[in-house]
Amino acid sequence: MDTKSVIEIQKKGIFMHRLVYVIFILQRLLLQFEMKDVSVRNTVCILSFIVLCEAVEEIFFYANYFNNIMVIRAVRYGQCLLATMVLVFLQISDDSEVMIIALLIMLMVDFFLTMDITERGRAVFYVMCIGMPMLIVVFVKVAIHSSGQWMFLFFDILMLMLVLVTEAALFVEYVIKKDEIILKQRHELTQIVEKNESILNMQEKLQKTNSQLNLQKIDLQNANSKIKEANEEMVAQAEIMHYIASSLEVPKISNQITDALMQVKKLGFCAVYIKENVYLNKHANYVIKTNIGQLQGRIKEWMEDIYLEMVAAGKMEMVCEESLKHEIPFLKDINVNSVYMKVLGIDEENYGLFMIGDQRRNLFNTDMSFYNAIIAQYDIAIKNAKIYNEMQQVARKDGLTGINNRIYFSELFKNAVERIQQKKGCMSVALFDIDKFKSVNDTYGHLAGDEVIKRIAHVAEQCIDKYNGFVCRYGGEEFVAVLPGRKLEIAQPIIDELFEDICSQVVHYNEWDITMSVSIGLTAYPEVCKNTDELLKRADWCMYYAKEHGRHQIKVDDGSIQRD
Ligand code: GH3
Ligand code: MG
Ligand code: MG
Repeated sequence: MDTKSVIEIQKKGIFMHRLVYVIFILQRLLLQFEMKDVSVRNTVCILSFIVLCEAVEEIFFYANYFNNIMVIRAVRYGQCLLATMVLVFLQISDDSEVMIIALLIMLMVDFFLTMDITERGRAVFYVMCIGMPMLIVVFVKVAIHSSGQWMFLFFDILMLMLVLVTEAALFVEYVIKKDEIILKQRHELTQIVEKNESILNMQEKLQKTNSQLNLQKIDLQNANSKIKEANEEMVAQAEIMHYIASSLEVPKISNQITDALMQVKKLGFCAVYIKENVYLNKHANYVIKTNIGQLQGRIKEWMEDIYLEMVAAGKMEMVCEESLKHEIPFLKDINVNSVYMKVLGIDEENYGLFMIGDQRRNLFNTDMSFYNAIIAQYDIAIKNAKIYNEMQQVARKDGLTGINNRIYFSELFKNAVERIQQKKGCMSVALFDIDKFKSVNDTYGHLAGDEVIKRIAHVAEQCIDKYNGFVCRYGGEEFVAVLPGRKLEIAQPIIDELFEDICSQVVHYNEWDITMSVSIGLTAYPEVCKNTDELLKRADWCMYYAKEHGRHQIKVDDGSIQRD
């Protein structure tokens, strides 16, 4: 038993003691008055003992000494000792000792209750503690008392001790068992508590695992949608690469790329601007795809300015989100919340702008690698187109003058004829040759002659370009001009203008001013030539006619000239 419960029991015991004392006193007084043979001396002795015990308990209780187990133990031990002595004293006379024995037992039980008797050895020691003084008292009593009563007294006390010791042993046994049971129960309780704790821990772990599983599920779903998105992007990229590989026409590629982006990324708009003269394009090229009203026109109007501003500011790319309405004023009243713009460039040379946008917010704050890959491929497409066009230029242009050569002329002429025949249209052809060019070479040298050829080619191209025709160097100092869709009557003043332009030229070479003259033969389909195959032949006849008839003139075909 722990100290606290022992003290509690002892405090309750005080009340019990009082009750027993009162009964005892009443019994003694009753015996005294009713049975006159009871010894007054013994009554006084017993009453004194009781008063003493009660007084000590009272004083110790109120002085709070009963809060100390050692004090309780000492008091109880003293009481037991005193009761034994009273018992011995009572044996001298023939008086009743039952009550004092009961009192002694009560005090001894109390004394035992104050002991820590969970160990068997200690219990025996305590029993000895209470038994030894009693034995000593008995033997002292026997030694002093020599009357014949001592044998009776000895056995009486021996019996009493035997009862006490057995009772105490039994009590100790009981307490030990009780303690063991309590210990076992405590142990079991601890185990249950531990089990409970481990169950709680497990439950907590399960909850954690569960929430982790939930998180993992969400992660998996996210990963899944990302894989799906990546897959779509890969398909789009493959498609775009296919377009790039299969075509060298930049506007067509731009169209296909913007379509693919709109479809895969579900964008609000996607636009590409390419400035003029990037790949043979004389004018800027715009491809704008959008499903937002009014945007088409506004993007076209603003895109070049945005490109120029970005290049001037050295900003190669921009993501506009919060300050979008401020940065791109033309989107002020339009529901677009995310815009990405990138200046397009190859070999550190900028050539245009890529622009995408959508109503969704924060769309371009994340990974832009897909768009960057598309833009990189776009750059490759432009580069390829540029190289191809440059090579084509080399193949199509005359080395000296830079105008179309005869090979390319055949292609252009064939295409023009096809278009005319399809539309049942008309066309005029003029062939012209520099007059007395040999003498230019002879007089000023071959290089001066080259300069004259270059000047005539340039002037002729400028003039014929204005009327959507084309010119080519047909031979050494011979050229051909084609005016598709112009009938003879319309072509005549154009060729007059050409004649004037050429003949008014002065080439300054070294100290010389070289003037020039040409002879031109002009014919047309279908007015004179009934077949397009005749055009070049008849123009040639007319040109020779002009040469033969004094040069420096235009011979307009009237159908009369015939040659073999
Ligand atoms: P015509 O009025 O009859 O045409 O007389 P022409 O002297 O112009 O004619 P001809 O056919 O006798 O001479 C043509 C000359 O053009 C001969 C050739 O050396 C010269 N020529 C041809 N190609 C070139 C060229 O690329 N550069 C130079 N400098 N001369 C060339
Ligand atoms: Mg000539
Ligand atoms: Mg000639």
